[in-house]
Amino acid sequence: MINSNDLSPDSIFLNASGLITMAGTPLFDRNLTAIAVRNGTIVAIGDDESIMKIGAQSKVFNFNQSVVMPGLVDSHNHFLGTALGWERLQLEEARSIEEILSLIESRINEINPGDWVLCSSRWHETKLKEGRLPTAQELDKVSPHNPIYLPRGGHVVVTNSKGLKLAGISEDALNPEGGEYVRDSSGHLTGMLLERPAFIKLSRLLPKPTDRDREHALRKGIAKYNECGITAVRDPALTEPEVRAFKSVIPDMESMRASMLLRVDLSKNAIERRKWIDNLGDSLDSKTNWLDVWGLKVGIDGGVEGGFFFEPYANNSNFRGLPLTDEENLFDIINQAQEIGWKIGVHVVGDAAMQMVLEAFEKVDSKSGVGVGGNALEHAFSPVEGSIQRTKDLGLGVTLQHALVYALGGNMCTYWGEQRASDCTPSKAWIDSGTLVGAGTDSPVTNYDPWLNIYGFATRDTEVAGVLGPQHRISIPETLQAYTMGSAKILRMDDSIGSLEVNKAADFICLDRNPMEVTVDAVKSTKVAKTIVAGKVVFDGSG
Ligand SMILES: [Zn+2]
Repeated sequence: MINSNDLSPDSIFLNASGLITMAGTPLFDRNLTAIAVRNGTIVAIGDDESIMKIGAQSKVFNFNQSVVMPGLVDSHNHFLGTALGWERLQLEEARSIEEILSLIESRINEINPGDWVLCSSRWHETKLKEGRLPTAQELDKVSPHNPIYLPRGGHVVVTNSKGLKLAGISEDALNPEGGEYVRDSSGHLTGMLLERPAFIKLSRLLPKPTDRDREHALRKGIAKYNECGITAVRDPALTEPEVRAFKSVIPDMESMRASMLLRVDLSKNAIERRKWIDNLGDSLDSKTNWLDVWGLKVGIDGGVEGGFFFEPYANNSNFRGLPLTDEENLFDIINQAQEIGWKIGVHVVGDAAMQMVLEAFEKVDSKSGVGVGGNALEHAFSPVEGSIQRTKDLGLGVTLQHALVYALGGNMCTYWGEQRASDCTPSKAWIDSGTLVGAGTDSPVTNYDPWLNIYGFATRDTEVAGVLGPQHRISIPETLQAYTMGSAKILRMDDSIGSLEVNKAADFICLDRNPMEVTVDAVKSTKVAKTIVAGKVVFDGSG
């Protein structure tokens, strides 16, 4: 038995079929069946007999022969955005444009003329029989008077004529830098707005969620995430009021831990940006066991429709994607973050963007003297020859999301061609290189379900494009490692979470099957029977 001290535990958990501790090599150990907890911290791990001996006076919980492992940590998950999205019109079940229009029509019947129709971004046009986004003209048929905000993922928004009018986007409007007002073959606006600079004029008109809305959404969201075994998230692009909502809810609920990144507004110039960073203030930067402001987030290229590549797109030979900034500006932002001791997470999709990011980090690295280790690349979809090694040498971590390949693989084939789509997120090469890898989903662009994502990492299966790039598969133990210790290290919370060890937080989940022993197909439908955070049962689905 591994025992830290003689303090008697306040609770003991007995009768697991075995533990996957994630301390060291990921293994299922059937000799470990019990955990003792005091004040939310693990004080001993062992077999039932040894733990019962030290816990004679403790409250006893029964693992009911389940498989127990550390809680899952999603290292790139727009958690608040996901939770707020649940309050919006849900389009996930729609299978045709007609169905989308009828869902919008019924929402309009519930609201006043002129009110916004706000849709969730969590759906995808590849699931529609038409395989495309609706147009402004189609939306106008059901909504001539209510402006529509119909995002899909984080890089595309569709609106109707009312929305275009309110945003001041007219037929003769020029594309903004870094964005596009998409037009049809005859040159008319389609209502599709590509990238933030194109839809910012629209999104800034939306009714803002109140503090109460945010806090309500977070509370609901935590409960849903706990149900599938998530006990910590890293939310990668927040504003200051959003960070404050986390600060009021997370320590109060004590059911999930959170790490937060503040989004850098690229429309600010260097002086404005410096002022913004200086004013962020100490109040935001106070690390506890429950939450931490991790640092800044900057996006340097688009998504599937706008990732910045060396070679042209498969569906448009004049287009290589949209860099959202240049290397000099990126260098400056990384430098500023370093100066105030903040980390930076850089969203990078295309190979040309990857090149730009690595060059900027290498410049900062050679100049700073303290190195750039501990910063992170978000997505890092398309490394080219040498870039994985350079990432490792710089000490950067990467957050990988097979969930994006799963959900967007069909579109990746259309926009990038089969080769680039198949090589997107080469998880095996990242893991084999020894680079720090955290796993996640990028919800609400994708489904937040960790088990579907774990299955995806291990199979390279996708929703509509079949298996893409099977050579990039990683094993279930490697995936679980990335979802626990890997992510915990990205969050810089690995001293307290990510593995079941004495003196770490008592955050663990009870599974109805052993993901290391069942078929990879069966991993997808893993059910969490109980979720325990800081020694407290926060979800119980066993009853
Ligand atoms: Zn994201």
